[in-house]
Amino acid sequence: MKKLMVLPGDGIGPEIVTETIKILDYMNSGYELGISYEYGDIGGIAIDKYGIPLKDDVIEKCKNSCAVLLGAVGGPKWDTTVPGMPRPEDALLRIRKELGLFANLRPVKIFKTLMASSTLKEEVLEGVDILVIRELTGGIYFGEKNRLSDSKGEYAFDTEKYYKYEIERIARVGFKAALLRGKKITSVDKANVLESSRFWRETVINIHKEFKEVELNHMYVDNTSMQLIRNPRQFDVIVTSNMFGDILSDETAMISGSIGLLPSASLREDSFGMYEPIHGSAPDISGQGKANPIAQILSLALLFRYSLNLSAKADLIEKAVNTVLEKGFRTADIYFGETSLVSTAEMGALILKEIKELK
Ligand code: NAD
Repeated sequence: MKKLMVLPGDGIGPEIVTETIKILDYMNSGYELGISYEYGDIGGIAIDKYGIPLKDDVIEKCKNSCAVLLGAVGGPKWDTTVPGMPRPEDALLRIRKELGLFANLRPVKIFKTLMASSTLKEEVLEGVDILVIRELTGGIYFGEKNRLSDSKGEYAFDTEKYYKYEIERIARVGFKAALLRGKKITSVDKANVLESSRFWRETVINIHKEFKEVELNHMYVDNTSMQLIRNPRQFDVIVTSNMFGDILSDETAMISGSIGLLPSASLREDSFGMYEPIHGSAPDISGQGKANPIAQILSLALLFRYSLNLSAKADLIEKAVNTVLEKGFRTADIYFGETSLVSTAEMGALILKEIKELK
């Protein structure tokens, strides 16, 4: 039996997970996939129930699963700047760290039918197919941080620190992914200023010796943010640190037109992974039936592909999503012109119907 943990979280998380689970249930019984799953609390809902954003027993259950399907966490109700107070987002950092998920993969492909919802021109978008690989368990988000004071007054600091093995393993993920795609990788850093970036670059160059068929180039993060808008087609795989990846992957996401379309996979060296949309809990539209469930549904497709070795089933989900979009159905975030506006549940039902018809 393949066991999954499902963590819907906060805001629109439960709404889009509900639609995704309907698809999982159908495929599980229709194709006898032998998948079982259990729900757990994460984020604000866990703070409300237990006073902490992630309980140890939920982490244990995740560790005993094949994969985790996550919605999103956070919301104004739990926003706090008081040091030491529990925050929903702490759960994300902890679960990634505890599960050893050091590689975050965000594929960005342009849906032809949705080009008009991007802020970029169609001739810039045509053919864009980028995989952003972000290091997820190291760097400044996990380095030493504090608020202190000295003779000049109060101050705060965060530390960017990378071990060689952390850079080596993420670089290998990048090179391996590039081998299966366009055989091109761009390593993004800020080596003109930061020592940690110079170390990053040096280490990536070393690992490149194992992957000579892949073309490697280096780009500063400021230039990358510009090039992504100027000519995104030049990129195949981008590999970068935790903070740079956090920022650049959101920029790359917007190239596609909506943050509600893009899934992500967080992986380690074995087949275990955690799969979630790249967007947050969207508290501004939560509970209104406006959320786009596609990123969550495509996260299930990635889960099938990377953790359950069910690539054909992943293709089926992706094809169904594409067909529904081609037929002109749109949630509010991607609605324009002569298309049909549908709710979260309607979009989920349309995709499920397409999957049933493709069987
Ligand atoms: P967000 O991604 O939640 O929302 C940004 C904008 O995109 C909003 O206007 C929202 O309505 C829209 N949007 C997002 N997902 C959508 C979808 N599926 N369909 C339609 N529209 C969608 O980012 P934010 O507003 O900066 O953050 C809101 C909360 O989410 C915060 O508490 C933040 O900390 C948290 N957050 C969580 C995660 C996560 O769980 N992985 C990631 C980012 C932010």
